[in-house]
Formats: sequence, structure tokens, C-alpha cells
Amino acid sequence: MENCIFCKIIAGEVPAKVVYEDETVIAFEDINPVAPVHILVVPRKHIPTFNDIQPEDRELVGHLAWIIKEVAKQQNIDEKGYRVITNCGEDAGQVVFHLHFHLLGGRTFGHNLVGKS
Ligand code: AMP
Ligand code: ZN
Repeated sequence: MENCIFCKIIAGEVPAKVVYEDETVIAFEDINPVAPVHILVVPRKHIPTFNDIQPEDRELVGHLAWIIKEVAKQQNIDEKGYRVITNCGEDAGQVVFHLHFHLLGGRTFGHNLVGKS
């Protein structure tokens, strides 16, 4: 997709600190981390939002979940714990419209899941 920053990272046109990649998924460090570990786990396929997941993407989304768990292990945050977030649409504050999961760890997060901006 034109003008999609994550498609450009996937195409190698924009640099990123890649921590994992395979045929369908790539994971790289967030450029503006909010935790000691802040990785974005991203399908190579351009799916704009969580709402746009199609029946044929179910295997891919399952694979994304598996890789999030594997990257958590690679980053040594699996035992202490971590948070996985996806922002869908305007109210959630989604900025990059290419599906991605934030993997956050290395600190505590408390129980506030409903913070307002
Ligand atoms: P959101 O769409 O709200 O889930 O957030 C998009 C995330 O992408 C933010 O945490 C940004 O810091 C991150 N981001 C934007 N551009 C880049 C980039 N070029 N490399 C790595 N992370 C990025
Ligand atoms: Zn894209």
C-alpha cells in the first residue's frame, strides 16, 4: 500500500530494528517506546484495522498470536509478564492504519485499561 509506513518497513524502504521475521509476520521495535520492551508485531499483509480481518485471515491472526508469545519469550518478558494491545480506529487512537499488536514489557502496568487522553 502506498504511503503506509509499515508497508515501507516490510518492503525494506524504511529502516527498523527487526527482532523477528518470517514469511507472513515481522516484528520490530517501536520508534517511540513507552516501556523498556516495546515491540510491534505486524502481518506483512496490509490489513488496515482489526475490523478488516477477513475469514481467510484467521490462520494469519492465529500465527500472529503465536509469534507475539514467542517474541515475549525472546525478549525475556514471558515469565514476569507483558501486555498486548491493538488500537482499532479513531476512538482507540489508532495512528498507523496497518494492523499491528503492541507487545509491552519490562515494567509494571497496573490495572488502568480505560485511560482517557
Ligand atoms: P497506533 O496506531 O496508535 O497503535 O500506534 C502506532 C505505533 O507505531 C506508535 O507506537 C508509533 O510510535 C509506532 N511507529 C510509527 N512509525 C514507526 C516507525 N517508522 N518505526 C517504528 N515504529 C513506528
Ligand atoms: Zn501497510
